[in-house]
Amino acid sequence: MSDPETMRDWSVERLHQDHGQALRVAQMHYDSETDHQRLLVFENPTFGRILTLDGVVQVTEADNFIYHEMLTHVPILAHGAAKRVLIVGGGDGGMAREVLKHDSIEQVTMVEIDAGVVDFSKKYLAAISDGAFDDLRLDLVINDGAVFMKQNADVYDVIIIDSTDPVGPGEVLFTDHFYGHAKARLAEGGILVTQNGVPFLQGDELTGTMRAFKTLFSDYSCYLASIPTYAGGPMAFGWGSDSNARHVDLTTLEARFKAAGISTDYYTPEVHRGAFALPPFVARLIP
Ligand code: SAM
Repeated sequence: MSDPETMRDWSVERLHQDHGQALRVAQMHYDSETDHQRLLVFENPTFGRILTLDGVVQVTEADNFIYHEMLTHVPILAHGAAKRVLIVGGGDGGMAREVLKHDSIEQVTMVEIDAGVVDFSKKYLAAISDGAFDDLRLDLVINDGAVFMKQNADVYDVIIIDSTDPVGPGEVLFTDHFYGHAKARLAEGGILVTQNGVPFLQGDELTGTMRAFKTLFSDYSCYLASIPTYAGGPMAFGWGSDSNARHVDLTTLEARFKAAGISTDYYTPEVHRGAFALPPFVARLIP
């Protein structure tokens, strides 16, 4: 792998200080600088088409279902009566795809900072959004999520932070100020969930988010799922709410999942409940 020849055919991700991952580039579909970040879309024999932003894997055709199912169906089915959802980030359209599977959802607002990500995802990663951008319930706003959250007066039943990592444009989405504004945008019984990195390598990020959630919510924690291309072990999803929705029982979840009538490849009510069972090395990161 150290041979320059082989490295030329690989996309090497160096998100972490001492740990990286390399993904073979079988075909480069697009390589561009948007107004905000470096955007690559390339083909990998195992993972299909892959989007990276500033060299960091954002989404792959093969394993995005895990991440998108767990950041949507867990809060929506735990809530039980969600009608309005806000997605911050999510430019590839995968999060919107999963939210819109729920006929009970009446309105989805998606606030994405980089129109280039949406445009290129529509063109090169259409399988991921799978028609979400054409759904009349979706309102796409091109803006910084931090600015939108401060200025917008609407309230939502579920808010999903589907951002890049806290470097570059995503950094503002991991601040106490942002979480405080997000809390103000939650309707009664609302739930805030966040992409919170891989605790084994990004434990400080999770602790930072949980410290903020501790001051904002009566109930806060995280839940886990392993996504192969988010390297380094299970990924944490932050959870904050003033409701008791995190503790909804299995029977209720099963009834709601059945009523929703949606097909999934990772989410089940049992997986939902199990995702909140934290190993000690993760639980210790929650203040
Ligand atoms: N699944 C990925 C992960 O876990 O890292 C996230 C995928 S999604 C493509 C991340 C999106 O967040 C990108 O489209 C990026 O442009 C967007 N983003 C980054 N910072 C943002 C901000 N401040 N406001 C809104 N969107 C932002």
